[in-house]
Amino acid sequence: MTMLEITPLTELKGVGEKQLEKLHKLGLHTVQDMLLHLPLRYQDKTVLKPIESLLVGVEAQTEGTVIAQAMTRGGRNSLLVTLQSPTGACLTLRFFHYHYRQAQSFTRGKTVRVYGEVRSGPNGLEMVHPAYSFINLQKPQPLESTLTPVYPTTEGLGQPSLMKLIRQTLARLENNPLPEHLPHEVLQELQLPSLNSAIQILHQPQASDDLLAIKNFQHPAQHRLIIEELISQQLGLQRLRQQEQKRCSPPFFPSQKTNELIASLPFHLTGAQRHVLQDIQQDLQKPHPMQRLVQGDVGSGKTVVAAIAAVQVAEGGYQVAIMAPTEILAEQHLQAFQEWLAPLDIQVAWINGRMKAAEKRHALAQIDSGAAQVIVGTHALFQDAVNFNQLGLVIIDEQHRFGVHQRLTLQQKGQKIILEGSENTTNQPSNDSYNAKHLRQSEVHPHQLIMTATPIPRTLAMTAYGDLELSVIDELPPGRKPIETAVMSNAKREELMAHLYAKCKQGVQAYWVCPLIEESELLHAQAAEVTATQFTDHWPDLRVGLVHGRLKGEEKARVMNAFKAHELDLLVATTVIEVGVNVPNASLMIIENAERLGLAQLHQLRGRVGRGDKQSHCVLLYQAPLSTTGKARLNIMRETNDGFVIAEEDLKIRGPGEILGTRQTGGVQLRIADLQRDAAFIESAQEYSRLILQHYPHHAEALEQRWIGYKTEYQNA
Ligand code: ADP
Ligand code: MG
Repeated sequence: MTMLEITPLTELKGVGEKQLEKLHKLGLHTVQDMLLHLPLRYQDKTVLKPIESLLVGVEAQTEGTVIAQAMTRGGRNSLLVTLQSPTGACLTLRFFHYHYRQAQSFTRGKTVRVYGEVRSGPNGLEMVHPAYSFINLQKPQPLESTLTPVYPTTEGLGQPSLMKLIRQTLARLENNPLPEHLPHEVLQELQLPSLNSAIQILHQPQASDDLLAIKNFQHPAQHRLIIEELISQQLGLQRLRQQEQKRCSPPFFPSQKTNELIASLPFHLTGAQRHVLQDIQQDLQKPHPMQRLVQGDVGSGKTVVAAIAAVQVAEGGYQVAIMAPTEILAEQHLQAFQEWLAPLDIQVAWINGRMKAAEKRHALAQIDSGAAQVIVGTHALFQDAVNFNQLGLVIIDEQHRFGVHQRLTLQQKGQKIILEGSENTTNQPSNDSYNAKHLRQSEVHPHQLIMTATPIPRTLAMTAYGDLELSVIDELPPGRKPIETAVMSNAKREELMAHLYAKCKQGVQAYWVCPLIEESELLHAQAAEVTATQFTDHWPDLRVGLVHGRLKGEEKARVMNAFKAHELDLLVATTVIEVGVNVPNASLMIIENAERLGLAQLHQLRGRVGRGDKQSHCVLLYQAPLSTTGKARLNIMRETNDGFVIAEEDLKIRGPGEILGTRQTGGVQLRIADLQRDAAFIESAQEYSRLILQHYPHHAEALEQRWIGYKTEYQNA
């Protein structure tokens, strides 16, 4: 290690306690961290674009003469300044916060140079709060000679202060370069700039550098750091996996009852289900924890595969915990598992948030004593004072709902359960064999099976789930007909309601989904309530049910069961039904405000139909007017039922954070690499990381320390 890798930021000029706190918030602790705090993007102030060539949505620098200035009242006070180009094109500057003096300074005839994002406003092109300066036409300010970096920052820490700090660290770098941690053989193969020159170029691009490439993150200096970061991330994930492989788990073998279950099913497993099951059964036979992610499109039949794995573990004398993201889904699993496992004399129990105290005590006692062999629940399974007797397998269903970060926490909690189990011995009468049993337990770790319906693009899976083995159920049960999807304007809503009524009268069951309009459960529930009432007012003989997030669990379950039993024709719902709900007879789905939902989410929702042998239909209603990209997105849904194609498109449109089901992408937070833009590098990064781990373990440690050292989830997981 050189100095800079451990030099604290307090050694820099101007870093007091307050400043330090903000820098820590950004994950910056050492001078090296600061050097690797790379620009998010660049502003190009090297050129002046004429007003008439400005494009909406693009940042640009331009100049014009003030021809009008006004302060508007009402609504939102704003200062509007109109600039005009020599050819007569106009641009409005809009300021919501301004001083009176500032307003006065924009006198007619002055020339103003502005930099900002161009938007379309009520009077044509606008810039909101642009950076500006007044130009003396006799002595015009020269343009910048190079790009201006823009750094990720936090409240109260402006770009100029960050830049000052970074300049200080760059000055130190000159006499004290950071050591290369990539092995010589890798560097030679890559043929990219050195670490130190790459850092210099990206913080302070020179006019002679290829600025266009830098702006587009295609410069070799960027590639140099991107690949090093991706390698480091892969190293972290591989280390996680290795650590897990050093732990001990009880081995389980397929047996009598697993075969009985398979034989008793009313269908044959698909080839894909059998393959995945084979992967799982092999993992379970090993004395180390299985860590397997099963991906299978909606309706591919993941549940039964999980159930067979559960039987294998239960028969081996250990317990199985199954965690679902919602109570509706947990209850559905409970029913399926009971139906499959009760004939095999395997006890299934469940824990939910609305159990009566006595009921809950009973369930907890069953779990504690080991009488309950398979336990279903939501994340309450991990939060409550649930003491498993001997936990052999943890199954997490619909993992994408929990996000990467939660997954890591859950893994920890899964292990903590066992440790808590052993701590409890202190409350028990001292009893050697009892303690010995619990002590043994604290040394074993449950196997983990994670299931997700969101087909995660391969490159993203390699980074977000790089610590897991992957199996894919890439085949649907036979006889499924692809869902036919139509895209329609909201103007056709009433017509559609009448059509739906007619269909229901013919025995069809339908969902009507009212997605989130505001981020408020209340409004969300109201939208669904209004729709349900519209149906019952119009057609009193239509049997309509309503589910939304504000209903009590019991009520939700009652409605779902009635729908399942075809006591209801129509289920009006919010997106609470998005995940996993299985009513094979339902074959029609309407989704309102479809343009507001992500493609992956639409795919999930749509997957609630098309589960039986009937031809299913889905109608995506949108609020007109629809933007061109909005239209293109909905068309993708119309054109394909393939979750992988949809996921790739979604990744292009929304970026990885959203796909992984959480804005805070946890382990996927990267400093320079972008999983979408730099997808082409991920594969070679993984290869290099294997090479490094095998032949240069010291480099591996140093790289991980450099790029992800401060991220606690890696260290603690
Ligand atoms: P998902 O993968 O979305 O969780 P489910 O496990 O809920 O899918 O399965 C969807 C439906 O398909 C269920 O009704 C299930 O019983 C049924 N199913 C599962 N496997 C098969 C199969 N091999 N053949 C026919 N139906 C199957
Ligand atoms: Mg499922």
